[in-house]
Amino acid sequence: MREYLTEVLVLDKNKVNETDLTVDLYAKELGRIKAKMTSGQKITSKLSPHLEPLTFSLVRLTEKNGFVVADALTQDYLKHFRVSPVYFAKALKLLSALKELIYSEEIDPKLWFWLKKTLAKREIFYSQFLKILGYDPKLAECRKCRSKFIKYFLAADQIFLCRNCGFKVPQNRLLLEL
Ligand SMILES: [Zn+2]
Repeated sequence: MREYLTEVLVLDKNKVNETDLTVDLYAKELGRIKAKMTSGQKITSKLSPHLEPLTFSLVRLTEKNGFVVADALTQDYLKHFRVSPVYFAKALKLLSALKELIYSEEIDPKLWFWLKKTLAKREIFYSQFLKILGYDPKLAECRKCRSKFIKYFLAADQIFLCRNCGFKVPQNRLLLEL
């Protein structure tokens, strides 16, 4: 069994049943991982508040057939996003983008520091985010009409779109505005 201590950004938290939870994390030292808290652990209810989506926490994980949260402590609850539904929705969109575009347990210090810096304020620049992930808007054109004036990135398809083509994308799809 291995043990890790790492800072994480909590992307999601899901109830598996009455006593079990899974958390979706972007970890400074591990990349994107999923970890569970099980009913065997009496501490689930104690740890759960430290693993709210859109929180920076320090977690101790054990790994044996997957990650298990052994301990967690909130570092930054990012209150400035929680003061209005508009800001909160904006930040949740970034979490959705991370879930859509990052799959692997791969450490990316550049991305980690960008997340820390960006979430310390309220302005989210997706052109920077996409560039770190290897999608450089500077060299891109609209995938549909070849326009050079790109305005959006469609996360699921990983394509850039211009304003007009972006308008045609259904509302339920994750569209990042550059
Ligand atoms: Zn277009």
